[in-house]
Amino acid sequence: MNEHVGDRAVVLGGSVAGLFAARVLADFYRGVTVVDRDQLVGATGPRRAVPQGRHIHGLLARGQQIIEELFPGFTKEMAAGGVPTRDFGTSLGWHFNGRMIRKVETDLVCISPGRWLLEERMRARVGELSNVDFLDRTDVVGLEASPDGSRITGVAVHRRDDGGPGGRRSLPADLVVDATGRGSRTPRWLTELGYPRVGEEEVRMDLTYTTCDFQAPLATDPIGDDIAIISVATPGNPRGATFARLPDRYSVSLNGILGDRPPTDPDGFLEYVRSLPVPQIFESVRRAEPLTTPVSFHFPSSIRRRYERLARLPEGLLVLGDAACVFNPIYAQGMTVAAIGAVVLRQYLADGGRGAQRYFRDLARAIDPPWDMSAGGDLGFPGVAGRRGLKVRLGNAYMPRLQTAATRDPVVSRAFMRVAGLVDRPETLMRPAMVSRVLFPTLRRSNGG
Ligand SMILES: Cc1cc2nc3c(=O)[nH]c(=O)nc-3n(C[C@H](O)[C@H](O)[C@H](O)COP(=O)(O)OP(=O)(O)OC[C@H]3O[C@@H](n4cnc5c(N)ncnc54)[C@H](O)[C@@H]3O)c2cc1C
Repeated sequence: MNEHVGDRAVVLGGSVAGLFAARVLADFYRGVTVVDRDQLVGATGPRRAVPQGRHIHGLLARGQQIIEELFPGFTKEMAAGGVPTRDFGTSLGWHFNGRMIRKVETDLVCISPGRWLLEERMRARVGELSNVDFLDRTDVVGLEASPDGSRITGVAVHRRDDGGPGGRRSLPADLVVDATGRGSRTPRWLTELGYPRVGEEEVRMDLTYTTCDFQAPLATDPIGDDIAIISVATPGNPRGATFARLPDRYSVSLNGILGDRPPTDPDGFLEYVRSLPVPQIFESVRRAEPLTTPVSFHFPSSIRRRYERLARLPEGLLVLGDAACVFNPIYAQGMTVAAIGAVVLRQYLADGGRGAQRYFRDLARAIDPPWDMSAGGDLGFPGVAGRRGLKVRLGNAYMPRLQTAATRDPVVSRAFMRVAGLVDRPETLMRPAMVSRVLFPTLRRSNGG
């Protein structure tokens, strides 16, 4: 335990970002309360307030590293419980336009528990911390502030089963961390307190996910001990899919953009799978036994909230996870960026926890690379509206070449996976030696490189 920064921290939202926050805050506050509108204590399986959790949630390599750092032994515990666990570079078949990039050892770890088991195990580990408690089935209805509004002093909550106005009460806090996801009301609450409007960047791609689970074992099994086949949506082939092995089943999440909606009727679902440029996915599910009926999730846009650009911010309030930035899910970044945000939070608190602006500035720096990759990547699709600056245009001209080079060159493939896994920064793909491998492969071969 570090020196205490304060007495009580309150985390709004007990999903993945809230759990990361609670784990970090427990080292700096005497008590931490996690408030969520859903039932958390004793809950298993899908949660009503997190409908996206029914769809495949891949955990990127950097996310696994941070989970392991915050919850030592997590990965071993997962593997011992039957969760597929393998090298990030050899267990995932990443396909671009139907061609798979080279599989190569990375020494990075991929775990595939599925969204619910991951969240459940994280919640169990957070629940073991003696100074953390959960206040579930409780809505957060507002912020409470000092008379001059310069400091957030707590939140107003409403217990769901109390009913009526009597259910409302105050939860005082030295620090409030908002991890309530996309629907976060912090921007509105701040304007009500007299603060400027939080600027937002939005990239609209009108994405639909449709997912169906299948019984294990499969009659035709294209992946064996591997973890997933990913058919990445590209401007040339905008339909994408992930086929994943989970502890007790297989799952297929289809994605379509700009109004192309993968159907939820079983025949339409299979037809969509058949239309993908990676036939193995169709071969594996065409005769498989469905465990669920296909379900859809509509994702209109990615949103980045620019708290770091506000001229004034109150003390005692921070924002983490999707509440700060919602990423296009096809890049599987959201949970890992929440983990990276928790590391930023830990550093901020270790430095004394003063100056909310500093936290938001550091968080923005951490969000920049994944945002550039996903928002920039989305702008590679001609129908997606948005400004295409030079950086975006160069990136979208270079990446298809890099992906082609990665189908034959293991050095390029490893570098790509480290960047896609959010372990390395995207600039590593632009280093002269890498650019040369990508753009001039024959030169390298003739030089014996
Ligand atoms: C279709 C889809 C697929 C995805 N796939 C991936 C993937 O492969 N990999 C990945 O890393 N990420 C993926 N994501 C993103 C991922 O779901 C989120 O990044 C992740 O859930 C972290 O979000 P969060 O904890 O910030 O918010 P959420 O998970 O949305 O949770 C918010 C929590 O706040 C609570 N809450 C909200 N408002 C209130 C309130 N007023 N009072 C009390 N409680 C409240 C809710 O009950 C909920 O528990 C995907 C997203 C979608 C939509």
